[in-house]
Amino acid sequence: MEPSARPDGDGLADRYGRVATDLRVSLTDRCNLRCSYCMPPEGLPWLPSPDILTDEEVSRLIGVAVRMLGVTEVRFTGGEPLLRPGLTRIVAAAAALRPRPVLSLTTNGIGLDRLAPGLRAAGLDRVNVSLDTLDPERFARLAHRRRLPDVLAGLAGAASAGLTPVKLNSVLLRGINDDEAPALLRFALDHGYELRFIEQMPLDAQQAWDRTEMVTAAEILAALRAEFTLLPDPAERGGAPAETWLVDGSTAHDGSTAHDGGMARVGVIGTVTRPFCGDCDRTRLTADGQVRDCLFARHESDLRTAVRSGADDEELARLWRVAMWGKRAGHGIDDPTFLQPTRPMSAIGG
Ligand code: SAM
Ligand code: SF4
Repeated sequence: MEPSARPDGDGLADRYGRVATDLRVSLTDRCNLRCSYCMPPEGLPWLPSPDILTDEEVSRLIGVAVRMLGVTEVRFTGGEPLLRPGLTRIVAAAAALRPRPVLSLTTNGIGLDRLAPGLRAAGLDRVNVSLDTLDPERFARLAHRRRLPDVLAGLAGAASAGLTPVKLNSVLLRGINDDEAPALLRFALDHGYELRFIEQMPLDAQQAWDRTEMVTAAEILAALRAEFTLLPDPAERGGAPAETWLVDGSTAHDGSTAHDGGMARVGVIGTVTRPFCGDCDRTRLTADGQVRDCLFARHESDLRTAVRSGADDEELARLWRVAMWGKRAGHGIDDPTFLQPTRPMSAIGG
């Protein structure tokens, strides 16, 4: 039986033996795209500005996580994190922490061509750029904005600034881009980017997710295997959400080869059909200062009020540990009583 009282210890442990070391920080819930699996075309009522943590507040909380709670990786996300005016300052403050965390960013890529060199200089290590389609018309249908050229420019800018390996995140939607898995992989191989497909999750603001419509990990793998040879990846998976395969570029069925002629990787994040909750090492901080122990949690722990009412770092660390101790064993999507979180993905931080 799992222990019910939290033992002493510094890390972000939960009662199922997991310890969170990977922090996702949402810097804004706003976005300049409207991906249909995330938010409606008209956008959402954004969080009120006074509720958003200031740059100093968010940097202080990242410091508590890294110095006192054993966090070793920090990923900035949103909403669209490139819309946060203080992003470069926040990255620089995180890079100055010791032990130095690995710093990454998940972005839709718009504006990254301009911002990448400064982010790299501030200490950002890597980026994940979301790219669901290579077709401008499909992009407009899916994201409700004609911005595919900006995303492609952002990708190139990230690579030339050294934010490598550049990773691509793709979500496939039935009837829109569900036939595009091989083309996206070929694009990734040609450019030296590492591609990961993400199963569509019940986190859209419209609550329109339908499991029977979802493009599954198995379907994606079958489509890739029709055109590429995928080999088991000997690399340790650890807490990583993606299952990965090596792509034998030299045997791609159409004769195309990987960027460097070597073995590239492709990943699939099967949150719904191949859950990995038992190995989860994530903790999350929303733009308005709430700790979440899971993407799918319906409960949050308020650190903003504590920060603004004068709590010292010890107290903030204690509140964060208590928050994580309550993490559930799994996301429960398959449970008939499953309810979507009240916040959509854009306000949680993906
Ligand atoms: N705006 C940035 C972006 O799009 O990369 C960062 C935030 S976004 C919420 C983070 C990731 O979540 C993106 O890769 C996006 O494709 C993914 N995402 C958003 N809604 C999703 C959903 N309902 N199911 C699966 N992935 C989703
Ligand atoms: Fe914006 Fe990212 Fe959501 Fe698309 S997935 S609407 S880019 S926050």
